[in-house]
Order: sequence, then C-alpha cells, then structure tokens
Amino acid sequence: MYIGVILFFCNYYMMSQQVFGIVIHGGAGNILPAHFTKELESQYHQKLNEALQEGYNVLENGGSATDAVVAAIKVLEDSPLFNAGKGSVFNSQGQIEMDASIMEGREMKAGAVAGIRRIKNPIDCAKLVMEQTPHVLLLGQGAENLWVSKGYNLVDTSYFYDEKRLKQWKENKKSTSKPQKHGTVGAVALDKYGNLAAGTSTGGMMDKMPGRVGDSPIIGAGTYACNQSCAISCTGHGEYFIRYTVAHDVHCKMLYQNKTLKEAIHTILFDELLPIGGTGGIIGIDKQGNVVMDFNTTGMYRGFKLSTGKQTTLIFDDKKSTQ
Ligand code: ASP
Repeated sequence: MYIGVILFFCNYYMMSQQVFGIVIHGGAGNILPAHFTKELESQYHQKLNEALQEGYNVLENGGSATDAVVAAIKVLEDSPLFNAGKGSVFNSQGQIEMDASIMEGREMKAGAVAGIRRIKNPIDCAKLVMEQTPHVLLLGQGAENLWVSKGYNLVDTSYFYDEKRLKQWKENKKSTSKPQKHGTVGAVALDKYGNLAAGTSTGGMMDKMPGRVGDSPIIGAGTYACNQSCAISCTGHGEYFIRYTVAHDVHCKMLYQNKTLKEAIHTILFDELLPIGGTGGIIGIDKQGNVVMDFNTTGMYRGFKLSTGKQTTLIFDDKKSTQ
C-alpha cells in the first residue's frame, strides 16, 4: 500500500518535471515575403497556430504524442493552404494521390499509406494501419479497403479539387522553368510521459507521375521516431530524402556520432543534401524537448509550442528556429 502511494507520487513528480510540446511544418520551398499579401501571411500564421494549439491541447490533457501529432496534422490537412489532404497538388494526369505516415518512439510502431485518393485525412488511415494491422505500409486501394472495413466513409475525389491548385498545375504545365513543386505537412511531439512521435502527410510533388511515391510515407526517409533520440518529420524533394534515408539518419547521427539534434539536422541539410540539389526542410524534437526547425530553401511554414511557455510560428528565413 505504502509502496503504491510512493510510486504514485514519484510518477506524478516525474510527469510534472517532463517538458512536453509539439513542432509542426507546412512544407519548405521557394517561399519569399514578396509572394505574400499581409492577409495571406496572417492566414498561414493563424492556421499554424490552430494546428499547434490542437496538438498541444492533447498533450496538456495527458494524451499521447501520437494523438497530438494526428490532431495537429488534421488541421493542416483540412486547410487548402497546405499541400496535404484538402490542399493536395495534382499529378501529371490531373489526379490527386496522397501519402502519409506516423511512427511512435516507445515501441517503434509505424503505419503508412501511399497513393490514396478518397480518404479525407490520410494521417488517420496511417494511424489505423499502425494500430490495427500487422503491416506498416498499405497502398491505394488496399488502404481504402481497410478504411471502409473499419466503418469509415470515403469522400468523393472532388472534395480535394481546389481552384488555386488547378491554376498552379495548369501554369506549371505551360512553364519551361522548373519551379520547386513541393510542399507537405508534418508534426513531431514529446508527451508528458517522455514518449516521442512523428507524422507526415502530403499530396507529393506537383505533376508527379501517377503512382509516384515520395519520402513522406517511407519510415526512415520522411518520418522517424525513437525514444532514445528524437522524432523527425521531413519536407522537400522526396527522391533525395528517400535515397539519403534522412529522418533515420538524424537518429543515427545523434546516437552513433553523439551529435545534437541541431548539428545532425544541419549537417544533413547543408553538407549532404544541398550540394547534390536536395532541397527541403526538417523538424525535430528530442527527448529533452529541444526543438529544431531547419531548411535549405528560402522558407518553411513552421512553429512549435512547449510546456515551458515558449512558442512561435514562422514562415521566412528567420533562422531563430532552435530552442
Ligand atoms: N517530400 C514530399 C514528396 O516528395 C514533398 C514535400 O515535402 O514537399 O512527396
């Protein structure tokens, strides 16, 4: 009885000492102040804040890092501002094919979906794969069949059609230059119990070949979480992030080279990816609650909110992105 009471208070003390928080991104790319009106800029900040708050509420109420990641990502998927869910870009045939993944760092469980077309929140389906199947990655029809078999509804593909995306896609078809065509959303979180989780969701690269799968649903490339090190979500030119197994490499550099989260991410973005043309960004949180949001492009939609009271949302190249 006494031991039980002591253990309860020890547990309570440890939880009250544990920093918790959430970090999000809404894609990196050629993002410059000149591309924004004040109003558009504030719309982005508002949505990022909304997503942070949704995720943070879960953590504050004692929820898991996994549930916080899902809650934050769903806000971004439901907004046409970001290339995921509702705002997904078109492939070369004018169709939308979405990818998403989630991983939790305590038991190293993971779930992912690729090439899905009719699920409103792809991150929900990735979580379903993680929690209710013996598999990690399900493709298009298989993922949608699982979704329906669990009693959830599909949406019509017209739900994802957004005027702005259609215009971008048509302009891109005419253009001879090669603009950066990426964008994605992601979140990483550390909960009150010291557990880490990461998730990523995307419409992929604009004008991609039908069937193309990027790094976002590939565990170790676009998403990774391990309680020993960190939780990572990437955004950028997926083919590079797959070949360099970027998210897992952050974990490796921390574990085997003793690098900090900041050093590991910076080395990958600037010494390894940039010289070969791999553009993008990485967000991470480590088990102590250190936050990094770094990118080798001109901007990245991003933000974090920690239990220490620190929080921010940023868009442009204001590199005050480490806490
Ligand atoms: N990484 C995503 C992909 O290649 C796109 C992005 O993050 O911008 O599909």
